[in-house]
Amino acid sequence: MGSKYINCHDFPGGSKCVHSVTLSAGNEKDLLELAGRHGISVHGLANTGEFRRTIVDHMKEGTPPA
Ligand SMILES: [Zn+2]
Repeated sequence: MGSKYINCHDFPGGSKCVHSVTLSAGNEKDLLELAGRHGISVHGLANTGEFRRTIVDHMKEGTPPA
């Protein structure tokens, strides 16, 4: 329990990422860190409170579907 995942196409400007990347981590804090880095380095997003809230909003419980 506690495992979460997010698809980066749910980020603002997610279409910039050619491949739909699913990021997963064992807890919300680690996923926020991971997804934040991906959004900033690949999508060119700013590390704002709003972006971090968007990540949390789109997190889903469990492990990514195959
Ligand atoms: Zn992406």
